[in-house]
Amino acid sequence: MLVVMKTNASEQEIRAVCERIENLGLKAHPIPGETRTAIGITGNKSAVDLAFLDSMPGVVECIPVSKPYKLVGREVKPEDSVLVIPTPSGEVRIGGPHFGVIAGPCAVENREQFFAAAERVRAGGARLMRGGAYKPRTSPYSFQGLGLEGLKIMAEAREAYGVGIVTEAVDNESLDLVEEYADVIQIGARNMQNFSLLKRAGRARKPVLLKRGMAATLDEFLMAAEYVMSEGNYNVALCERGVRTFSDHTRNTLDLSVVPAVHGVSHLPILVDPSHGTGRRTKVRPLSRAAVAVGADGLLIEVHHDPDHALSDGFQSISPEEFEVLMGEVRQIAAVLSRSVN
Ligand code: PEP
Ligand code: MN
Repeated sequence: MLVVMKTNASEQEIRAVCERIENLGLKAHPIPGETRTAIGITGNKSAVDLAFLDSMPGVVECIPVSKPYKLVGREVKPEDSVLVIPTPSGEVRIGGPHFGVIAGPCAVENREQFFAAAERVRAGGARLMRGGAYKPRTSPYSFQGLGLEGLKIMAEAREAYGVGIVTEAVDNESLDLVEEYADVIQIGARNMQNFSLLKRAGRARKPVLLKRGMAATLDEFLMAAEYVMSEGNYNVALCERGVRTFSDHTRNTLDLSVVPAVHGVSHLPILVDPSHGTGRRTKVRPLSRAAVAVGADGLLIEVHHDPDHALSDGFQSISPEEFEVLMGEVRQIAAVLSRSVN
């Protein structure tokens, strides 16, 4: 059920409706939009008669939500959501007219490596940096990340270069630390259906970047975002990073058609990660261009100053020089679509 408030409904009227909902043991999610606020209702395990809400001051109508997801759907918020990320060099926005680029190495390897990357990523014009401190690796014998030390290196680079930091949390313990040190909490593909982690991210006070599971359908992807939002964190963006198919010319198959599919049913921004999506350095730039053209809201790109010696995902990491070329191409295509690149 969705309660649509009048354009000019007051704060008090919105609060009064939320209180009535919460008094029934349900959870109210007021979602402000450009023209009106809609209040999503979750927590109703059986049919509850909410008809009385219709007659409360400031309410236009109560409408049933037809989709299994309530808060991520366009029914609750018809216009595009914008992920807002405070950084030391001001707010970065992703979604709507704003196209966001997140770039950096797969993993933080040491201070010199991450600082070198930060300098080049910044020179290329990106204001958000990625880097893994907790790496979900297929083999327990592969480099697992520097953990807290990696977070500290990224936090230092954040201040030195004015970049916002995006990094993955792999469990509740690392999420506590990522929330403390970083600007955006990334939930990786392997954890897209780790429901306790999603709920913990939903209670965090930082934006969440949710990557698509490698075999997740559109509905499963959106329901994972619903988990985060149902706990009260509405600052969520999705990220397509390729799915498993029979094709073996790339590591995964980048599903660019999911971008317009998401935009059709959800107000959430969706980024594209052509690095993990292809696993091949030579494919990153062409698919980045395609991602902008298809309407993605941003890109996640792995950049390393010495890709051949990277401790993880070197095959798919591009050089800083190529990143600069990529950014130039991205800006040109984005301009055709009237989008600004941050
Ligand atoms: C990553 O972005 O570093 C990563 C591990 O990606 P994914 O979860 O998509 O595999
Ligand atoms: Mn990687």
